[in-house]
Amino acid sequence: MKAPDANHATAQSVTILRGVGPTLAERLARLGIERLIDLLLHLPTRYEDRTRVVPIASLRPGARAVVDGEVQRVESTFRRRRTLLVALDDGSGVRLTLRFFHFSRAQQASLSRGQRLRAFGDVRSGSGGVEMVHPEYQLLRGDAVPEAPEHLTAMYPVTDGLGAPRLRSLVEQALRILARHPLPDPLAQVGTLVGLPSLNEAIRLLHLPPAQADLEALEAGRHPAQRRLVFEELLAHQLSQRLLRASLRTDPAPVIRADGALFDRFIASLSFSPTQAQRRVIEEIVTDLGDGQAMLRLVQGDVGSGKTLVGVAASLVAVEAGFQVALMAPTELLAEQHAISFEHWLRPLGVLSLRLTGRLKAAERRSALAALDSGEGQVVVGTHALFQEQVSFARLGLVVIDEQHRFGVHQRLALREKGLDSQGLAPHQLVMTATPIPRTLAMSAYADLDTSIIDELPPGRTPVRTAAVPTSRRAELVARIAQQCRSGAQVYWVCPLIEESEHLNVSAAQVRAESLAQALPELRVMLLHGRMASAERTATMADFKAGRGDILVATTVIEVGVDVPNASLMIIENAERLGLAQLHQLRGRVGRGTAQSSCVLLYEPPLGQLSRARLDIMRRSNDGFEIAEKDLELRGPGEVLGTRQTGVESFRVAELVRDADLLPDARALADTLLAGDGEARRTVALLTDRWVGKDARYGAV
Ligand code: ADP
Ligand code: MG
Repeated sequence: MKAPDANHATAQSVTILRGVGPTLAERLARLGIERLIDLLLHLPTRYEDRTRVVPIASLRPGARAVVDGEVQRVESTFRRRRTLLVALDDGSGVRLTLRFFHFSRAQQASLSRGQRLRAFGDVRSGSGGVEMVHPEYQLLRGDAVPEAPEHLTAMYPVTDGLGAPRLRSLVEQALRILARHPLPDPLAQVGTLVGLPSLNEAIRLLHLPPAQADLEALEAGRHPAQRRLVFEELLAHQLSQRLLRASLRTDPAPVIRADGALFDRFIASLSFSPTQAQRRVIEEIVTDLGDGQAMLRLVQGDVGSGKTLVGVAASLVAVEAGFQVALMAPTELLAEQHAISFEHWLRPLGVLSLRLTGRLKAAERRSALAALDSGEGQVVVGTHALFQEQVSFARLGLVVIDEQHRFGVHQRLALREKGLDSQGLAPHQLVMTATPIPRTLAMSAYADLDTSIIDELPPGRTPVRTAAVPTSRRAELVARIAQQCRSGAQVYWVCPLIEESEHLNVSAAQVRAESLAQALPELRVMLLHGRMASAERTATMADFKAGRGDILVATTVIEVGVDVPNASLMIIENAERLGLAQLHQLRGRVGRGTAQSSCVLLYEPPLGQLSRARLDIMRRSNDGFEIAEKDLELRGPGEVLGTRQTGVESFRVAELVRDADLLPDARALADTLLAGDGEARRTVALLTDRWVGKDARYGAV
């Protein structure tokens, strides 16, 4: 359906505006502005009150202000750096210095003695009294005193070659068009929006707020006009994601049904039985696999909750039904670990599990590729490379993506397209993540996925005890390690990625390994890092797992997936520099057996406020969901989710954390609209086109 907005005046290209040629159009496009509506929805990030011209004598350092005055003296100096100093006088008894570091000859010439100007900028105290550094200014003619603007001045996100003044004048043109052709406002009667300005009023107000507007609310993003637009944007995103999801759901996918004999044999071979939570999630997956529509399921489970078992269970159902399975891990190391486990579990069941990792020799690789092509290889474990290369599958039925929540809608779509078989059937997708996604974000960023949660740890685990310790106490720690290792425990010592250069990180780990080996000659110290050959890494991991090492010094390569239940102490250096999700992941390497485990976060004092808050949360909580919520509060959604990929960053006005209270209503209204008739469908098309525009992928897939 063609969106009703498509015929609206604001759907026209910005090139219809006066002064917008190809160059400017290209710059606008850099800001995501192509249509007039995009320009109208390109909202200011701040405002400045330039409505009052004040006497220079009233200026206080720290304020932003507008003054009118006459140039008394112009001086350019070359001390330290080239500087232009302009003394401005307005007869109020105090002079203001304007200080410029970048200036052209023409500019200097225009600022001659006697010239009157209006300047706007930050006031600070300088050597000779109050000054403004690089103020915006306007030359005044003769005695004329131009009116100060009636509105607060909008400050827009800008780009090279396109500054705020230019944007302001373009927006004003667009607002004039809007005044003649108001946007259709189908949400005008919606209950949530009662008492808020209408759509058209809101847009106008946000670009040109009256002088008395509540500046504080505007800056906090809580002004009624902002709330009006935020709600509509949240709704539009919900709609577009739900449409995407619906269109993916209608993808025909292979019907995968099995009676579970293979799975039962696998369970019988284990020394433990699955938890209730694992069983429930496996049930949910089995139902999805059998219903003929492509599964898109996210399994969230805290570190150590046993997601691998769930992945194996799903794989075995697919294999039993005659399909191939691809398991994708984020790192080579984890892929190797999984490959070993899968081979170990599946070989006794007569299932051929292969690996496609960097470690393979050319001949092994060729034979693995041939086995996948012929269908003889039933399961393959690898990294992203699995889908980047020319791997062809005889009958791929299921893709399992492990430890990967930073895997956005677009990657999922790409994966699906790669996986389409000759009959156009899409493989089922199972995404597993140990980084719990705060509910607020999950609702929005993952609206296209179904979610299962493993909310129970295997029995007998005792929570990891966590302490934060300054580096000055490192020697004490070393003594403690010696004692623990003597009683049979194994220890991880993590030197995290702190430098840009992997080389320096590796050397930090090397240095640490050497000093520990020296201090503890009776213990076996091993080293693991990203620059070791893949075969060597795998061998080291295998040795450590088999108990042939006491201390494993590593970079963050061990962050995900490494599973050595006997390891019960972890030291993390430079913990103050790591994010919460990463600390939680790392800590999850211990506490996997029945022994009481501990984690020591070594930090370099003094601690900043944010670092202190982070370490405190780690000490208090072992709950990945709680930690994720706190992480979101501390860092914001872009950081937590990994930017771009998720689409969360593409909001124009909404901010998920700030505006979370509007989400439930937006979701409810999305339900109603999607279930509705012709009128409702038109609203859906209009809103998604207006806010999501050409990024609304649902039409294309
Ligand atoms: P994660 O969810 O972090 O990927 P793993 O799948 O690596 O967790 O499992 C962590 C550890 O728990 C492994 O040693 C695994 O064998 C063990 N495990 C998994 N499920 C159970 C269970 N139901 N009972 C006991 N141990 C289990
Ligand atoms: Mg795992």
